[in-house]
Amino acid sequence: MDAISYERAGDIAGALRAAQQPGTMFIGGGTNLLDLMKGGVARPARLVDITHIPGLDAISTLPDGGLRIGALVRNSDAANHAWVRERYPLLSQALLAGASAQLRNMATVGGNLMQRTRCPYFYDTAFAQCNKRAPGSGCAAIDGHNRMHAILGASTQCLAVNPSDMSVALAALDALVRVSGPGGERVVPFTSFHRLPGDRPELDTTLQSGELITAVDLPPPLFSEHAHYLKVRDRASYAFALVSVAAALQLDGDTVRSVRIALGGVAHKPWRASAAEERLTNRPLTDATLHDAAAAALQDARAQRDNGFKIALAQRAIVRAVNQAAGRQGGVA
Ligand code: SF4
Repeated sequence: MDAISYERAGDIAGALRAAQQPGTMFIGGGTNLLDLMKGGVARPARLVDITHIPGLDAISTLPDGGLRIGALVRNSDAANHAWVRERYPLLSQALLAGASAQLRNMATVGGNLMQRTRCPYFYDTAFAQCNKRAPGSGCAAIDGHNRMHAILGASTQCLAVNPSDMSVALAALDALVRVSGPGGERVVPFTSFHRLPGDRPELDTTLQSGELITAVDLPPPLFSEHAHYLKVRDRASYAFALVSVAAALQLDGDTVRSVRIALGGVAHKPWRASAAEERLTNRPLTDATLHDAAAAALQDARAQRDNGFKIALAQRAIVRAVNQAAGRQGGVA
């Protein structure tokens, strides 16, 4: 067992100071980090507990009509908050699709953004090959069991997928991640927060060393009327997505005025389906336009040995999610 030291931060400045020591990690709800530590995957020398920093557990309105969700807001509190349910039902649905009630009561919004892939080779240190856990060691999933792995944006170094449901909705909603660090505060567009594996799969995000997530900002609500989060998984609860779809629409009669579609379970980051959005915008929402958009979303997909089924599954899930968001009875492929 490794010895670790523990410190409780009283404010953001104190947390940032503490994080300057090498080997330090922040801990919030701990629902992923403690698992990683118990398995020997994460081995911090020092934990800085951020759960007592005042002000980071609040949900507040923004001057532009948007919403700020503090990094320490528990997933269950975010999902059930009246403003989130009424104005951002897509986010509420995605949060409630994740994990179990007990985990949602502990897990924080900031921690949800930082959770790591559930690739089994990453978690099992008996496997020597994992470029994410041990850079340069190889990737056991490439020739191994890769049913749950990526079909979009993978590299020759890593096929892992991001496991977060919440992040798929936040990608669709064009959220912003607020970050404090040694260089001050900055705001990261959500679709730039997580990264593709490339040749640095050990890096999940664009967060810099010593930076702390303080909040997630949601733009003014445009999609409270037509939104749906669809999660397809092997069992009805407490399972990670094979494929998920966050769909949100603004409709003018049957015509799509604007649309957001993001996919989960398919890539190293929440995958914004921009090609599908382009195919639907300012077009009538019909079975034909929807199937055309779903095909466009997966046009660059590449199957691994065991996960070719995900391509057709993702296309069907897009059709179903958009139809559900629109309140439409249209056909499901
Ligand atoms: Fe590791 Fe990524 Fe390969 Fe999984 S897919 S074994 S996380 S390098």
